Amino acid sequence: MPRKFQIMFGVVLVLLALGAAPPALPAQAQPQFAPIVTHALNGGVYWIEGGVGSNAGVVIGKDGVIVIDAKQTPESGKAVLAEVAKLTPKPVTHVIITHSNLDHVDGLPAFPKGLTIIAQENCKQQMEHPRNNPQNIDLSGYIPTKTVAKKESMTIDGVRFELLHWAPAHTSGDLIIYLPDQKIAFTGDITVTRLPYPLIHLEDEGSSAGWIESMKGIVALNADTFVPGHGGTQNKAELQQRVANTAARRDKIKQLVAQGKSLDDIKKELGEPTTRPAGGNAFPTFTEVVYKELSKSKS
Ligand SMILES: [Zn+2]
Repeated sequence: MPRKFQIMFGVVLVLLALGAAPPALPAQAQPQFAPIVTHALNGGVYWIEGGVGSNAGVVIGKDGVIVIDAKQTPESGKAVLAEVAKLTPKPVTHVIITHSNLDHVDGLPAFPKGLTIIAQENCKQQMEHPRNNPQNIDLSGYIPTKTVAKKESMTIDGVRFELLHWAPAHTSGDLIIYLPDQKIAFTGDITVTRLPYPLIHLEDEGSSAGWIESMKGIVALNADTFVPGHGGTQNKAELQQRVANTAARRDKIKQLVAQGKSLDDIKKELGEPTTRPAGGNAFPTFTEVVYKELSKSKS
């Protein structure tokens, strides 16, 4: 597609990832660079909001720094590195990616080449798929050098990490970064709450049932602070409430599908609009995703 539309598509994706309903975008629209704010957690762990794209995490090790997610543009990636430089003179040695969406990976070219880049194995494949690179960012040199299938414990630069993947959720390549000593988990876009129900990317093999399974794994962690891909930190009670609400919603949709109801009837029953507002969210709603999954599994 023409570059102009690729950029627009990228903008729309970011807005959607943020859970916003994007307005009709003028052709020249560029993502807004929000003020960069660094928040300190405990034990040498920080999270950075702002720029363009997702939150980023920073973990300061003995001799180097581990960054979690790289934001959406090289300019935003540079802003993360500038924040790290304010915290410590130690170099960034590792980047861990929570999933393949462009708002988490397209800032990677701001980082020096030759870093260890860690991701779930499906995330690596998705990063290499042109569908996930509408901004045409050159990610050569930034494709994950180490992949995790399900669960791996490792000590990086003196810091204990557990890298966890239970099931396909937001995408099939989600990775949770759990720091057991600090009781902090970076949960990517599984836990983003700006939409009432989770955003599942079926085009990246996400799954509503897998989302529930993953959330149950996340809330079972011995953690006090959960850093989502977008928005502020959450506590365990908030995540428990979200998984309960979502599981109840999914059960209700499942019940209606079993009764042979159409998608529009199900939406009406749930009090949802059956048509999209102009300029509204272009990704399928949770109800549409679950309907599609269950209709497919019936055939
Ligand atoms: Zn995101």
